[in-house]
Amino acid sequence: MAYLSFKDINKIYPNGFHAVHDFNLEIEQGEFIVFVGPSGCGKSTTLRMIAGLENISKGDFYINGKRANDIGPREREVAMVFQSYALYPHMSVYDNLAFGLSLQGVDEDIIEERVLNIAKILGLTDYLDRKPRALSGGQRQRVAVGRAIIRKVGIFLMDEPLSNLDAKQRVTMRSEITDIHRKVGATTIYVTHDQTEAMTMADRIVVMKDGYVQQIGTPYDLYFNPTNVFVAGFIGEPPMNLIRTSVKDGAVNVGGVSLPLDKVLSPEALASVEGKDVVFGFRPEAVSPGRSDDAFVMKGQVELTELLGDNTNVYVDMAEDKAILKVDPREAPEMDLEFEFSVPYKSVYIFDAETELAIGR
Ligand code: ATP
Repeated sequence: MAYLSFKDINKIYPNGFHAVHDFNLEIEQGEFIVFVGPSGCGKSTTLRMIAGLENISKGDFYINGKRANDIGPREREVAMVFQSYALYPHMSVYDNLAFGLSLQGVDEDIIEERVLNIAKILGLTDYLDRKPRALSGGQRQRVAVGRAIIRKVGIFLMDEPLSNLDAKQRVTMRSEITDIHRKVGATTIYVTHDQTEAMTMADRIVVMKDGYVQQIGTPYDLYFNPTNVFVAGFIGEPPMNLIRTSVKDGAVNVGGVSLPLDKVLSPEALASVEGKDVVFGFRPEAVSPGRSDDAFVMKGQVELTELLGDNTNVYVDMAEDKAILKVDPREAPEMDLEFEFSVPYKSVYIFDAETELAIGR
């Protein structure tokens, strides 16, 4: 059995709201797992069940092979960092870091050794005498992380720890947390609604929606092999273009152009979708301007362009369908012109419009 094991976990709140449905997951020791999904999808609820702050309504949760449903939060050997890092304002950084260990009655010299070590890992050595109010948001966040990891617990839980930081600090802290994880090696479960955080930090991502797990996989898996329309649209920025259409005589009509699907689906897969409604997907970054080999050639009217520096987002209107394309700024079209572009066959995704599940190739 894995280090953490979730078997058909459900959470039903006392008011009857079913927040988490049949959650199944195995986590190996030392993994960095990210729960991601829109607001209300049940990610914090699941994290709180792991911490022992919420009871599990149904199912079995195991830590290191031992059923943990009824083990209290203190005995679970977990440390948690919340959105609001709640440092003690009247205490120095040193005391904030030392406080938990002092409460446990750990020897002063051992506390000092650990505080200095953690401060070094987190780049806080020069700030140990300061009070939290004299620190930047990022430094405060590091103290909060330090306070959690100083306890040397096996499981480290973080609930949107970067949401109070500005965009630049978030990027820095993202790599710092990944780096700390590499150094400390504790099994980490990290909750966020930000797909970029999930993609850049996780060993594996759990995508949730409305209390249901949608897909579990590495960032690479989720990006290249999304199992359904939701994951396809959630992972990636700007999101994948998802155009509803129907299959007739082995082809779909997208933006007024007939696209033969035998280029992207096996004969069996193609037969399975004949006559059905499907969702035709391609990522904005998969397109290239003009015509290319082994690609569908489409065109649309340019409605808007957004120069972002490294690329330009081009919004096109293709008959009844709209799409966003990510192109090199030097090749970006002018507004209102017609723009021809290619979508490689290998970058096309087809989903069943009814079940929203990906059609295998
Ligand atoms: P967010 O990103 O907004 O924090 P989340 O994915 O973490 O969202 P949860 O906090 O896990 O979502 O909540 C999941 C669902 O359960 C939500 O619809 C929420 O309203 C509901 N919920 C949370 N706590 C309770 C509670 N104590 N009683 C009833 N329903 C609750």
